[in-house]
Amino acid sequence: MRAAEDVTFGATPLDRAAQLRGDLGALLARAGASTIVLWKGKPLVRGDALVFLPLDHPVLKEAERSPMFLGLRAEAPVFAVDISPWAPDDVDEEAMGQFFDPTQNHHPATDDTDNFVELRGVMAQLSPDEANIAATARAIFAWHDSHEFCARCGNRSGITQAGWQRSCPSCNAQHFPRTDAVVIVLVTSGNSVLLGRSPNWPEGMYSLLAGFLEPGETIEAASRREVFEEVGVRLDQITYLASQPWPYPSSLMFGTAGEALNTDMTIDPVEIEDAKWFSRETVLASLDGSNPALKPARNGSIARFLIERWLKDDLD
Ligand SMILES: [Zn+2]
Repeated sequence: MRAAEDVTFGATPLDRAAQLRGDLGALLARAGASTIVLWKGKPLVRGDALVFLPLDHPVLKEAERSPMFLGLRAEAPVFAVDISPWAPDDVDEEAMGQFFDPTQNHHPATDDTDNFVELRGVMAQLSPDEANIAATARAIFAWHDSHEFCARCGNRSGITQAGWQRSCPSCNAQHFPRTDAVVIVLVTSGNSVLLGRSPNWPEGMYSLLAGFLEPGETIEAASRREVFEEVGVRLDQITYLASQPWPYPSSLMFGTAGEALNTDMTIDPVEIEDAKWFSRETVLASLDGSNPALKPARNGSIARFLIERWLKDDLD
């Protein structure tokens, strides 16, 4: 697909400079270094922009882990610092546990207008470069959070390679950040698209069907299997369209398309709550707000990206 990397999180703003990761001290000492800050997966933003701070900013004292090196921008290192140990006293735990966390959190050491916000809420407003930087940091911190212990021997591992690896001092195993492959399929039948919803989604929201790849599967096979499992629809030829890093917490979405061989559905209630065929006109009306009963996939998701390209007949 042309311009496939225009998808949210698809930009490549940094030279990852993996060859420099072995010497974090030298990177931290380089001129022009700056860092973004995350708290519990929420990036620090000011309006529609990520906040970049100097490495001696007082808020960074909240961190327990050393800064993670994201890459070089115009030769200056860009880091990410996780200050999740910070415990503000006004946290709404229930709101933070929702599918979409609407709360913002302000640290007194930052500017008055700076807040930690859910990335899903700003991903489509950030510049493409900043969206990618925030997504990269969010995914790698989530990996460290859930991989503190060695998967081979169970002992505590340590962060190495400026954040890009964990090494086990007990058995010498090396662990690398994982990415979970997911297929997300634009299933069409003539003028209609197949959209489904999960039970925990906002009311009225429907999106493309998706699922994790399993060992031994191609992207094409996984696309066919997922759609058949969820709704009982068989697909013809599968076409790969675009991919999107999706940091919730660490997926890579493979967007594909397939024409349905049957339109009758058998919905698996374990997998999804509902699925329907929607005409182009119905989906267009939901995007321009004239059909409030159907809420489209969130702006910034690859589902929304693919649906909009399909509506414009621009999938090539
Ligand atoms: Zn080990």
